[in-house]
Amino acid sequence: MNRVRLLVFNAALGPLDYRVPAGMDVEPGSVVVAPLGPRQIVGIVWEADRLPAAEVPDARLRPLLEVLPVRPLAAPLRRLIEWTADYYCASLASVARMALSSGAALRGGGTLTEYRLTGQVPERMTPQRAAALDLLEGEQATIRELGEIAGVSEGVLRGMVNAGMLEPVVVDIDRPYPRAHADHFQPLLTEHQAQVAARFVACVKDSRFHPFLLDGVTGSGKTEVYFEAIAAALEADLQVLVLLPEIALTENFLARFSARFGAPPVVWHSSLKSTERRRAWRAIGRGEAQVVVGARSALFLPFARLGLIVVDEAHEVSFKQDDGVRYNARDVAVMRARFEGVPAILASATPAIESLQMAEAGVYEKLDLPARFGGAQLPAIETLDLTKDPPERGRWLAPPLVEKLKDRLEKGEQSLLFLNRRGYAPLTLCRHCGYRFQCPNCSAWLVEHRLSARLACHHCGHETPPPAQCPECGEPDCLVACGPGVERIADEVAEIMPTARVAVVTSDTLTSPEKAAQFVAEAEAGAIDVIVGTQLVTKGYHFPDLTLVGVVDADLGLEGGDLRAGERCFQQIAQVAGRAGRGTKPGEVLIQTRHPEAPVIAALAAGDRDAFYDAETEARREAGAPPFGRWAAIIVSSEDEAEARDAARAIGGAAPNLPDVAILGPAPAPLSLLRGRFRYRLLINARRSAEVQRVIREWLGPLRFPNGVRVAVDIDPYSF
Ligand code: ADP
Ligand code: ZN
Repeated sequence: MNRVRLLVFNAALGPLDYRVPAGMDVEPGSVVVAPLGPRQIVGIVWEADRLPAAEVPDARLRPLLEVLPVRPLAAPLRRLIEWTADYYCASLASVARMALSSGAALRGGGTLTEYRLTGQVPERMTPQRAAALDLLEGEQATIRELGEIAGVSEGVLRGMVNAGMLEPVVVDIDRPYPRAHADHFQPLLTEHQAQVAARFVACVKDSRFHPFLLDGVTGSGKTEVYFEAIAAALEADLQVLVLLPEIALTENFLARFSARFGAPPVVWHSSLKSTERRRAWRAIGRGEAQVVVGARSALFLPFARLGLIVVDEAHEVSFKQDDGVRYNARDVAVMRARFEGVPAILASATPAIESLQMAEAGVYEKLDLPARFGGAQLPAIETLDLTKDPPERGRWLAPPLVEKLKDRLEKGEQSLLFLNRRGYAPLTLCRHCGYRFQCPNCSAWLVEHRLSARLACHHCGHETPPPAQCPECGEPDCLVACGPGVERIADEVAEIMPTARVAVVTSDTLTSPEKAAQFVAEAEAGAIDVIVGTQLVTKGYHFPDLTLVGVVDADLGLEGGDLRAGERCFQQIAQVAGRAGRGTKPGEVLIQTRHPEAPVIAALAAGDRDAFYDAETEARREAGAPPFGRWAAIIVSSEDEAEARDAARAIGGAAPNLPDVAILGPAPAPLSLLRGRFRYRLLINARRSAEVQRVIREWLGPLRFPNGVRVAVDIDPYSF
């Protein structure tokens, strides 16, 4: 092999050809260093033998410099990279970058020095050292990472090493992970569970592509059942990838996994320390990491012997990545399973319409677990019509819900109040002049957070302390909170029931896996009476004493007129309802709404999932929406409003005229200003048969825009 074509990590460059010097051993997938002008770049050998005759003769090509000691990316992963780039209209370079896991891949094994506290504390310390001492409790990491954790310079930490406060620990990057055992603790499955498990096990043994939709009500034992599939893979010495939607969920999952298999799985997510990333990446590539539990980025890991992919809570919106490469991890997971030739299990109590449709079409095998384990009943669901039974003035919980909360407190049972709004209030006004506090970078209101005494933008992270006076009229003490967030509901609970122990559960309070674990431990120990939470509490948790769920504002989910609003609202409320009555005591769910007649709410109250899915499926069919038609979005943004608008118009002006493709817009995007960029959007609605990706590529390909303009394509967008 004399000549190779490299995939390089700069989308603007495109593939580049190089000569392989004599004696150098490369194969497709090899990670290599090559010269580019005066610089050196890293690339992946992408094509080697099917290269077309080139303009530049072999003799004039520059030679590769070095092959990095990284296992070459295997053919199934390379195909996945190509498929993802092609399907989502992204550059190969940007997808390949995900596959090299931000460099975790490129640094080799060996040893590395980390530091940890010695416990030795001098009598007198600088305030910086004292603060660092607190923050570094229980941490072990490189000096640079400790600096980030403690918010101090490396100099301060070196000083602490010299003073004997920190000690070095030499770690081996390639040290082995504890082994999981298929038969560590085997639960006795119910007959029905065992049947479902047997299907999975057979397919794992068969080692063929086979997608499953595991459709089981909350608490039916979906996890137990796919654990059997994992056990089968372990027995066959094959690796498993389990995708979970939220890091907050993993702690819970890890404990369960360890109890079943005798060792924790290998965890993969974006906030891993760099040593752990390297260790995991390498062990996965060697085939030694047996089970990997990860966020969506784990899909591009270099498994050596993959035998099974599981996507738990497969309906979750957070599997859709909304910047960079805009892919849907659920769908990419199925493609990876296909290229690897292994089974995939999508598990959910409320599958996406798309997934159900795939089952209907015979593409996925659908297996049902219709009953809760151990005879636990699904909770009774009732609507509470706020137009008939309004809460007191300035309150949000209606009297019947308040009565039930008090009743549970008396009985020593737990309640959960669900409101999908972080913070204290979604909108803050000046009581004097009506000024509304808005984010300077986004078209969004600032949300008051009382626990952290901040006004915050939930889109860009902009934060400011609540001002002492109105920036508009100068009036002091002028802030009025409008509408409820979870913190405000928690205050209301405290007013109604002063003795109740209330926990607010949102991404603001469960900021780390440790905090999530602590919350679970407290809730399980009965140290919390009322949980007030956002969608974070709708997932995965299993609290046996939780018998009442109150949905504070069901109508919130229906607002916005977004294509998937109905489905998402249904899923969220069904999932949160599924938290009630998971033990021996029956559960009850109250849904506060002003529209009890809305189809979603009515179907929930009637416990008639099929009615909802049938109606929604029909509506989608009529609208040509997924899964019957295809949507795509083109989002044009710039810091300069006119520039963004002009570029969007230019795209609109060049729109192709095709019989099976309708193009809407350009119009200002729903968040017309986001992180300081003005955004315009075009929507494309196409028949299933239209090759929408090709249409978009041919349409946008020839267009040129000013440097400040970004054009992003979103195939199968989630929310718009
Ligand atoms: P799902 O994933 O469908 O919500 P889980 O797998 O979490 O359901 O099961 C719900 C609860 O029932 C868990 O506490 C689980 O351990 C328990 N469970 C389910 N099946 C069994 C079984 N066959 N034996 C013992 N416990 C089980
Ligand atoms: Zn903002």
